Amino acid sequence: MIRTRFAPSPTGMLHIGGARTALFSWLYARHHGGEFVLRIEDTDRERSTDEATAVILDGMRWLGLDWDGEPVFQRQREPQHKAAVERLLQAGKAYRCNCSRERLTALRESQRAAGKKPMYDGHCRNHPPAEDAECVVRFRSPDDGETWVRDLVLGDVCFANSELDDLIIMRSDGSPTYNLAVVVDDADMGISHVVRGADHLNNTPRQIQLYQALGLPVPAFAHIPLIHGPDGAKMSKRHGAVAITDYREAGYLPQAMINYLARLGWSHGDQEIFSRRELIELFDLADVGKTAARFDQQKLDWLNSHHLRNSDPADLAALIAPSLGVEAAGSTPPLAEVVGLLTERSSNLVQLADGARMFYRRPVEYQEKAVKKHCKAAIWPLVHAFVDAAEEAVQWDAPAIHAMIDTICQQAEVKMGKLAQPIRILVSGGPVSPPIDSTLALLGRDETLARLKAGLARLEVQE
Ligand code: GLU
Repeated sequence: MIRTRFAPSPTGMLHIGGARTALFSWLYARHHGGEFVLRIEDTDRERSTDEATAVILDGMRWLGLDWDGEPVFQRQREPQHKAAVERLLQAGKAYRCNCSRERLTALRESQRAAGKKPMYDGHCRNHPPAEDAECVVRFRSPDDGETWVRDLVLGDVCFANSELDDLIIMRSDGSPTYNLAVVVDDADMGISHVVRGADHLNNTPRQIQLYQALGLPVPAFAHIPLIHGPDGAKMSKRHGAVAITDYREAGYLPQAMINYLARLGWSHGDQEIFSRRELIELFDLADVGKTAARFDQQKLDWLNSHHLRNSDPADLAALIAPSLGVEAAGSTPPLAEVVGLLTERSSNLVQLADGARMFYRRPVEYQEKAVKKHCKAAIWPLVHAFVDAAEEAVQWDAPAIHAMIDTICQQAEVKMGKLAQPIRILVSGGPVSPPIDSTLALLGRDETLARLKAGLARLEVQE
């Protein structure tokens, strides 16, 4: 069975790159009907925090990347890591080393001076330290031959064993190092495919050697090329919001984010828009590109608008209701209807909520510039005419309202906008809203009249 994992270190937020790695790993498992598990790599005691773990899980949940079973915490698996080190020591595949910092520094410097790559020289292989000496444990890496990484994305990558020195697998305080812990955990967790960022590629030949030394089956590997900023440099804070949850705060929809992240490095013909279901159906590692993907804010915005327009208004209403302080279902006017009116003109949830706010809050002030421009003395009689017509109208819907405004404007021989703008300002406080007829229809006759009268009382006398 296919079993993949996401193995974040809880030392910071879940950023775009991490989220994309998690997505690819999740998609691969879901596509194949396999399992996707989560391992929190909290072995760096100094830098790992519970808050960071919570933030990562929150980001995963927001994106809908559900994991199977409970998350595994790497630190709790130290006994298994130690047992593996012990097995390697027993088998003569690892050895204790107490080379001093001074010796290692001198060694590195002389190698550099000779134009060689700095590497541990295997001194303690042949000079075992005393039993009670404070030691690290090193893996006895093969001296010659090659280690091949048969990568499902990058293809076959060959590493000369002579380039890989004897890696420390346990520190002098008895804590295991990353490469050892990852191998033991991936094996114990039954991971069939290790999907991770290409920044880990150089660790992979070492991990393969450890699997082999421990007699464990080697999983398949897929290293995903990194994400670059629009300028081609490695993605960083400078390129904008990078924590995945920042995008939620900025009004992006998880389905848009998923669509966008999937297309960062993966493609399916020319198709740009994918639902979650389609991604699961179509995703495969074979279609992941070998080169770094570039982050493109405009494309993300475009996808977000698209998904916004294609969402059920009731779902969007539920998402923005808290920020408006209204009930998603049961508000007057119905929030889903307000949303229906606004999605065409909004590209994210923040804009949507901003547009919806006027329906639930009477204006407390009126934009001065707009008032100056649109509320000239000559317009007030027309507004009064509209108030009168509204009070007498038998019907209150968009076509009826449109006809009322049209009639008044025709009689006065002015364009409809001349009256629509002051009405808009009086009911919303500003010059921007969806079409005035549908806006007033949704607002309701009583509310419209109340706002118009309050606005007239405030603005007409100022003239
Ligand atoms: N914990 C590592 C990281 O956050 C990932 C290890 C792995 O995927 O093998 O970079």
